[in-house]
Amino acid sequence: MIGSGPAGVYASEALLEWSDSHDESGRGVVVDLIDRLPVPYGLLRHGVAPDHPRIKGIARTLEGIAQDPRIRFLGNVEFGTDLTLADVRRLYHAVVFATGALTDRTMGIPGEDLAGSFGAAEFVTWYDGHPDVDPDFPLTARRAAVVGVGNVALDVARMLVRTPEQLEATDIPEHVREGFAGNTAQIVSVVGRRGPVYAKFTPLELREMAKIEGVTVVVDPDDLDYDDDNTDTPAQSAGSRAARELRESDRRVGQVCAQLEKWAGAQRDAGLATADEAEAAALAAGDKVVRFRFNRAPVEIVGGGEAGAGGRSDSETDGGAGEAGADARVTALRLEITEPTADGGVRGTGRTEDLPVDAVFRAVGYRSSSLEGVPFADRTATIPHDEGRVLDSPGGDPIPGLFTAGWVKRGPTGVIGTNRSCAVETVGHLTEDLAAGTLPDPADGDPQAVRELLLERGVEVVDGPAWLAIDEHEKGLGEAAGRERTKLPNRAAMIDVAGGLSRCQQ
Ligand code: NAP
Repeated sequence: MIGSGPAGVYASEALLEWSDSHDESGRGVVVDLIDRLPVPYGLLRHGVAPDHPRIKGIARTLEGIAQDPRIRFLGNVEFGTDLTLADVRRLYHAVVFATGALTDRTMGIPGEDLAGSFGAAEFVTWYDGHPDVDPDFPLTARRAAVVGVGNVALDVARMLVRTPEQLEATDIPEHVREGFAGNTAQIVSVVGRRGPVYAKFTPLELREMAKIEGVTVVVDPDDLDYDDDNTDTPAQSAGSRAARELRESDRRVGQVCAQLEKWAGAQRDAGLATADEAEAAALAAGDKVVRFRFNRAPVEIVGGGEAGAGGRSDSETDGGAGEAGADARVTALRLEITEPTADGGVRGTGRTEDLPVDAVFRAVGYRSSSLEGVPFADRTATIPHDEGRVLDSPGGDPIPGLFTAGWVKRGPTGVIGTNRSCAVETVGHLTEDLAAGTLPDPADGDPQAVRELLLERGVEVVDGPAWLAIDEHEKGLGEAAGRERTKLPNRAAMIDVAGGLSRCQQ
């Protein structure tokens, strides 16, 4: 397995289960779980928000699987450099690429490279203590916009309004804890280019926003109006009707809308007629605000040279991104007001408004990265495959012995559990090929050969026992502070605790 996140671990599990019930040869199956990080579990460790212990708990399931003696963890091994495609083809009967997706998609609008414009993954990997990212993250924005209305946007918005005290029990590394102490965010706008019925939120995750102490959620009641009597043209009526029908027919959509309507109702009951009034009242009461803004498509991130780090701007947005100086930073997010079309899309109205913000986080989806020598479809940013069998090109021929699972196979959608069925499908074909004798025989199938090769190349492999040393160390750090775990801050600290090569040679 290349990648030890949920997809790689579930694929290992599926393979061992198959071996238990089918492999009569007595040779058994050995799985190497190879990861470029010194620690396993991929996005579960470096993607799931730290204030989501329920989801982080899945780590225990993955741990249980990974502790099977037939699975060997080989961490701190980079595919493409430490081990090439030619190497793994020479060493294994089959290779499953399960490398996930953790780079940010871009929106393709001006200003995305301004200071203060971030991809969600930049923030997520920082707060989740990814060992390779810059330990400093500038949490200096008073007003921030999060673009996208999926669960990652909710994670980012929720974390932006968290206090260090609320994160006290979590496993974040100490430098992240200190970073949150300087967080100045007061108003976080979550921006959807379509209406609420098309939001990708899951109801449980949305409802959580209501439970954060010191935070008021604000909704614009106009965004929740699906009444086609209030429209001007037949096209607008058709769009509103389609939205209303979806709200009524889809259970998840109904629950998401009901939660938004509940917040809007609370504002109304408090005598606050508009979202602006509700926002002002919350701020006056000393709360932070998470405000949902729908039917607004970002068209530009506007920058200005004047605002210092953390400085906020007012709504003057003269000097768009193109005109702003070299040290320009975000001062506003320019939004085009949209209206729904009957097919679930949106059309721009030509009317724009500038939302004054000091930072923009785009949570518009992740992208997988290509792997050296492995076919990759740029358009979808996935490995071309047929139910998990890697193809030489999209729609092309299978490459015997190469497989894929998880987000790099099907794109960045679905919850962690989705990776189990995805991995089962892939492994189903792998074992079919094994039974049919179509897996290529490796030139050097000795299970020790990979370790010898890595040692020869001077790779500081963090193997299973070395990972357990890191795991115990992190638990010890956590225990001292009354929490389950405190993550180590970087790769050097992890390798130091793991004992590097010397431990692995034992
Ligand atoms: P997502 O659910 O696909 O949401 C992406 C959002 O970005 C959509 O609202 C999309 O709007 C919007 N978007 C895309 N391009 C845009 C653009 N150019 N301008 C403006 N908006 C744009 O992706 P995600 O939030 O990254 O989540 C990925 C997967 O991880 C999902 O399956 C999610 O449920 C899962 N996840 C789960 C949890 C959890 O269970 N707690 C937490 C985090 C993530 P359109 O719909 O209009 O394209």
